[in-house]
Amino acid sequence: MVDAAERLAEIRNRIARAERTHARAPGSVTLVAVSKTFDADAIRPVIAAGQRVFGENRVQEAKAKWPALREETPGIELHLIGPLQSNKAREAVELFDVIHTVDREKIAAALAEEMRRLGRSPRLLVQVNTGLEPQKAGIDPREAVAFVERCRTAHGLAIAGLMCIPPVEDQPGPHFALLEKLAREAGVGLLSMGMSSDFETAIQFGATHVRVGSAIFGAR
Ligand SMILES: *Cc1c(COP(=O)(O)O)cnc(C)c1O
Repeated sequence: MVDAAERLAEIRNRIARAERTHARAPGSVTLVAVSKTFDADAIRPVIAAGQRVFGENRVQEAKAKWPALREETPGIELHLIGPLQSNKAREAVELFDVIHTVDREKIAAALAEEMRRLGRSPRLLVQVNTGLEPQKAGIDPREAVAFVERCRTAHGLAIAGLMCIPPVEDQPGPHFALLEKLAREAGVGLLSMGMSSDFETAIQFGATHVRVGSAIFGAR
């Protein structure tokens, strides 16, 4: 039987291979292991196998699981990859090292206020709705560059990069290419794109962070 630690090793190998294939620098792609819905007992073997960067999509769920796991193992980096409500901004700033889902003015303002209050500065990425899907979070790609600039000028927030989740029915490549182009125009360096089914394509298009859940932890 293949366990999570073995699947993790396989994903790391595939990332390294994709870096070589696409002339990306070795180690230039960070694996965010998406542990949403999995409990501490399922996460511990992956930490024991050396993984330190994890992603969660809900603030409350992360708050229930991660403080104890962090006590056990120093050096964990926690990423919020799910939608953020402004009334959760304080908890998000307290808990997360990177927030991938800044996508509107109200969230930018709430994060700026809590970062000042708490003296903490998680790295921030703007989520872009590259497929213009009505049910999906993220800013309209036509407004993304101006929004990054407004985060700086109106809220004093340094945006580090962009994130997207392509529509499931589309080929992901064009979405990743669009995100890369927008990041260049906005002058930001991080690209959070690619999941279990398409992370190698994302690496081809310049991903710096791939968010891989089920290929490591199993089906949800
Ligand atoms: C769940 C989730 C992932 C991981 O998806 P898998 O297909 O399980 O790899 C990545 N990004 C976001 C935003 C998610 O919500």
